[in-house]
Amino acid sequence: MSDPAANLATRCVHAGDRLDPRGAIHTPLYNHSTFGFTSTAALLDVVEGRAQGSLYTRYGLNPTIRSIEEKLASIEGGEAAWVFASGMAAESATFLAHCRSGDEIVCLGDVYGGTFELLADNLPRLGIRTTFLLGSELDRLDAVMSERTRILFFETPTNPNMEVFDIAALASKARERGALTVVDNTFASPVNQNPLALGADLVVHSTTKYLGGHSDLTGGVVVGSTKLLEPIWTWRKNLGQMMAPEVAFLLARSVRTLVVRVQAQNITAARIASRLEQHPRVLKVNYPGLPSFAGHELARRQMKGFGGMISVVLHGDAASTAAAVDRLRLFSIGASLGGVESLVTQPITTTHHGLTAEERARRGIVDSLVRLSCGLEDVEDLWSDLEQALD
Ligand SMILES: *Cc1c(COP(=O)(O)O)cnc(C)c1O
Repeated sequence: MSDPAANLATRCVHAGDRLDPRGAIHTPLYNHSTFGFTSTAALLDVVEGRAQGSLYTRYGLNPTIRSIEEKLASIEGGEAAWVFASGMAAESATFLAHCRSGDEIVCLGDVYGGTFELLADNLPRLGIRTTFLLGSELDRLDAVMSERTRILFFETPTNPNMEVFDIAALASKARERGALTVVDNTFASPVNQNPLALGADLVVHSTTKYLGGHSDLTGGVVVGSTKLLEPIWTWRKNLGQMMAPEVAFLLARSVRTLVVRVQAQNITAARIASRLEQHPRVLKVNYPGLPSFAGHELARRQMKGFGGMISVVLHGDAASTAAAVDRLRLFSIGASLGGVESLVTQPITTTHHGLTAEERARRGIVDSLVRLSCGLEDVEDLWSDLEQALD
């Protein structure tokens, strides 16, 4: 159904979709837990891998699931993809499949709070230890990587300071040291950045964010080579982390419009970021598209668009910042991102609430930092809302 050479928007619409025998225009929702066979031989052909077919949904052998996996593999440029019940499920299965007791992970920069907790608290109980390095400590990367380092993990741009990491350079260093590079591409989305094309081994997404795009589903995916995905399959199956078929169907619906949504969000965020930079109440704007931003040159090289996420440091303290946030009407106060509705959050109250004051200071997460996820509302309406809240 899809030509792998087609451009991204075409693949978003068509990749993985099967014209249904009854003529439905794209893959139907097979909301079934199990599938029947006409003979034992036919069942064994699927169980023993001689034939592709549907068997049982928790295994991922369901046409609606396989269809969205082909679509996601195609748009991220990987051989295959496995979907999961959440982004955290995709990450945890990836770490468990590729690390065992005694192995090490190196994690760069700021990462999603759940990822931090998984790496810092959960995995050490299984003997898998993580070394965390800030972006300002990259000169120590060589020293902290050992022959036990299996995975170099990072997000780019990061949450909430939008720090940009050089995927190609880091992936080549990891490869030299025998480690896999796993990139969380949730913030950029495949429209703005393709880590596999830059040398990363595996890409994970919380499909809850841009890929889902409508704040109405929770899911995750890991994309890469069939060789690296293979060991992840049994972890997903036996931890029971499968995405529900209804969610897979909804996600495919969303991915068909991914390019138009993200391109509109890129434009809106760029306009808002440059206006915020001129505003007297604003101390600093973190947006990879701004020439004044530290990661701008690198972002220009490795990203095709700069995304819909902005963070802003205001003049003021925690209370005056919360008051400005509370005056916003169109931006809802919420912890997620990537949907059609614009969202705002003060990271010290949500994503980084659990960190100590010292740890926040070390990470540059100040009290007056505000993170914006630009939705699909009219840019002038969003700007008016920000202006009235700041004035
Ligand atoms: C939300 C998020 C996750 C976790 O995804 P869930 O779908 O909530 O499990 C991981 N990484 C990033 C960058 C996120 O924004």
